[in-house]
Amino acid sequence: MTVELICVGTELLLGNIVNTNAAFIAEKCAMLGLSMYYQSVVGDNPDRLQELLKTARGRSQVIILCGGLGPTQDDLTKETAAKVMGQKLREDSRARREIQEFLAKRGCQITDNNWKQAMVPEHCQVLYNANGTAPGMIMEDGETRMILLPGPPNELIPMFEEQVYPYLHQLQPEVICSKMVKLCGIGESSAETKILDLIEAQTNPTVAPYAKTGEVHLRITAKAAGEQEAYALIEPVEQELKNRFGDLIYTDDPQVSLEMAVYELLKEKRLTVTTAESCTGGLLAGRLINVPGISEFLKEGYITYSNEAKEKLLGVAPETLQEYGAVSAQTAEAMAAGGARAAGADLCIAVTGIAGPCGGTSKKPVGLVYMSCYCKGKLYTEKNQYTGSRSKIREYSVASALTLLRKAIIEQYK
Ligand code: ATP
Repeated sequence: MTVELICVGTELLLGNIVNTNAAFIAEKCAMLGLSMYYQSVVGDNPDRLQELLKTARGRSQVIILCGGLGPTQDDLTKETAAKVMGQKLREDSRARREIQEFLAKRGCQITDNNWKQAMVPEHCQVLYNANGTAPGMIMEDGETRMILLPGPPNELIPMFEEQVYPYLHQLQPEVICSKMVKLCGIGESSAETKILDLIEAQTNPTVAPYAKTGEVHLRITAKAAGEQEAYALIEPVEQELKNRFGDLIYTDDPQVSLEMAVYELLKEKRLTVTTAESCTGGLLAGRLINVPGISEFLKEGYITYSNEAKEKLLGVAPETLQEYGAVSAQTAEAMAAGGARAAGADLCIAVTGIAGPCGGTSKKPVGLVYMSCYCKGKLYTEKNQYTGSRSKIREYSVASALTLLRKAIIEQYK
């Protein structure tokens, strides 16, 4: 079954709003196993919309339109779509009643043009809208199914999920299901190399790598008659990925972030942690504090941006700073050991680097970041060289620091 998406709105063409509806609808259609070959954006212009609808009818079985169902003169999606499908408009009494109730509840003045939204094509399934005044509609003739949806995402998303998804699902007997395996501590190309044979041999399921900041996600996707069959196809591939990547996989749960995985480890092993941050300036502690419940394991953290702060709060020796510099493996290690001591924590993860854009030298360029994790008397230290903007370098540093912390816990507390 082929599906085509048309988003209507001059605001979209001018770049005033981002087309988040397109991303949402496209993703849902992919999950349903529908083939979407075309997406278009057209302004609030009935002639151009009509032309586009005629073309779409010639090449797609389902046409989804979003936007332009409002009460004003320039909202012409419904009128144009009905014309292309050879239908007249009629008033829908339930839609009229719901518009009246919706506006009355909010104390809004009802104007004449509001009733325009109660008009629907004479032969259509009305998709009532609990979150706004514009009902959606589904029109069908022998060849084409046309689905009209309101533009505002808070109206479109629930309407799609509750009414359109089940409608499309029964048209399409196959479902597409996927699972995500998330990795840290490996780059995208190395990850891909390790599974090249799986990628090359794939038909159903397929495996695709996605590069994220400091992480790689592998999506396994299968097509089958039902969800159970699709997950049964995914299972052996997921197992194979687990065999190949081992501890580099931090989760197979799409809801779990890297900091959540670290939190789970701290909880399981009953370990306290502290942070000693220079160039990341609190971002690392912030990522950990994203996780509810972390207060049991992270009592305090240090932002030690200056040399004085590194000496005062972490006890880094002035000689270390003088001899090796603030951005060095020796300083990172002194920060980690000193942070664990100062906080009385089992672990301390320390980061020091040059986030740029200035401050780099030929020996210590922008993007050079050292990190060290103190764990059970042992120091795990890493040197990284990142590229990109100041914020990117800081984000990458935080992801690598979380990865190093995770690695140290796994190795020391097996
Ligand atoms: P209404 O329910 O207000 O009558 P409508 O169906 O006429 O809406 P539009 O007037 O086209 O929809 O858009 C209304 C608002 O919805 C836009 O200003 C924008 O905020 C949001 N919107 C419309 N289309 C999109 C889109 N494709 N992606 C994201 N947001 C959108």
